[in-house]
Amino acid sequence: MALPVERTTCSCQNKVKDMSQADFGRHEIELVEVQMLALMSCRSVFGPLQPLQGARITGSLHMTSQTAVLIETLTALGAEVRWCSCNIFSTQDHAAAAIARDSAAVFAWKGETLQGYWWCIERALDWGSGGGPDLIISDGGDAILLIHVGVKAEEAYENTGSLPDPASTESPELQIVLTIIRDGLETDPKRYHKMKERLVGVSEATATAVERLYRMQANGTLLFPVINVRDTVAKAKFQNLCGCRPSGPDGLLMATDVEIAGKVAVVCGYGDVGKDCATALRKSGACVIVTEIDPIRALQALMEGIPVLTLEDVVSEADIFAVTAGGSKGIITVDHMRKMKNNAIICNIGPFNNAIDMSGLETFPGVKRVTFNPQTDRWVFPDTESGVIVLAEGRLVNLGHPSSVISSCTFTNQVMAQLELWVERDTGKYEKKVYAMPKHLDEKVASLHLAKLGGKLTKLSKEHAD
Ligand code: NAD
Repeated sequence: MALPVERTTCSCQNKVKDMSQADFGRHEIELVEVQMLALMSCRSVFGPLQPLQGARITGSLHMTSQTAVLIETLTALGAEVRWCSCNIFSTQDHAAAAIARDSAAVFAWKGETLQGYWWCIERALDWGSGGGPDLIISDGGDAILLIHVGVKAEEAYENTGSLPDPASTESPELQIVLTIIRDGLETDPKRYHKMKERLVGVSEATATAVERLYRMQANGTLLFPVINVRDTVAKAKFQNLCGCRPSGPDGLLMATDVEIAGKVAVVCGYGDVGKDCATALRKSGACVIVTEIDPIRALQALMEGIPVLTLEDVVSEADIFAVTAGGSKGIITVDHMRKMKNNAIICNIGPFNNAIDMSGLETFPGVKRVTFNPQTDRWVFPDTESGVIVLAEGRLVNLGHPSSVISSCTFTNQVMAQLELWVERDTGKYEKKVYAMPKHLDEKVASLHLAKLGGKLTKLSKEHAD
């Protein structure tokens, strides 16, 4: 796939939807900055030292106005940045335009095709002849995946002359990845090797991607250090206190315009996100039922007054199905969908679209797709004329980020992890492993907020400590 790449006045390469939205994007970014406390503190605390001077950072994370504040924090600290989204629907085109015009290379627009999506990742990783980025900010692991698959394909090509075969997999996305790599191999057979060599490290925010990276570490295939910025103490505490984590069924409520009160809603998975979802649905008047595989979480739901049943028990009775099952595949299958009530609504709060068997649905013989609104489709089965409504094509439904302490915290974790990897790049501190966020950085993120919220910390004296 080859799309034209443009250049803006800041001579940043870009492919965005509509550059005329840049002023609107800038206005919104200015509003958001006021709320992203710790990120803005990063700029005043670290900006004068320019600690990211010389660092090339590729980001693969929803291109929203909140992300724009993250990007401009990185550039304020001295980095050069190229960006793409981690979801085909989540880009805010006005934010993308403002960043492309003023600060960084951006390849993202709302409603990318899958081909377009992977093309954007490829462009964001392409820093020209000197190799790839020094650092990657990741949410979902797709850019990391491309490099790993690329390196493996280059090794096979060098050893046996064989090219990757897209027909060797049934996954439509992996087919695209293999095609991209195959098409580039003859021109530059060392492209991903050069990227691997240059890359200092990655910070990753998605649970399932972190899980996958731990598995790669265990089987010895992880190619660079990773800091897991998801499971940090400061973020967890903020989430509990604020009770307004960026997940939840808000997207569902907005997307469908559906009356929730009195409906039966099934929440598949009762982890942190599942709990938020269940709470919000209950507050909206739904009768919530949870499905779980973990006895402790199942018991927790029961103790909180929520029935715990299997999907099979409730599939024909429920009106709404929200999947929050942490990256598991095939939670809702086509067989389940066929048993659902006419116009039952299905959505996913997790990042991967195979939690709901979309490929099974799309290839079901004779199934008809009717699109009401962008990202709201009714799928009608031919024999029964009964249909289900699937939101966001089975992908993450609550797109975008709220500008809140939590988003600021998450993004500041990313900045601190990038700083740490960059500063320690020659010390050998970080090996090809997945690391939890170091405690001193976690504390730093909290203390950056403290000052902005008007808090003053008591210093631990030697006497206290003794
Ligand atoms: P988690 O791992 O704490 O919870 C997932 C729960 O699902 C666990 O309790 C697990 O036992 C259960 N589960 C797994 N397989 C199941 C199955 N087959 N049936 C029923 N239950 C099953 O994860 P979390 O922090 O609650 O996150 C859930 C998902 O939401 C993840 O995919 C995460 O990446 C995503 N997430 C989304 C947003 C957002 O804004 N949309 C924000 C944070 C996290």
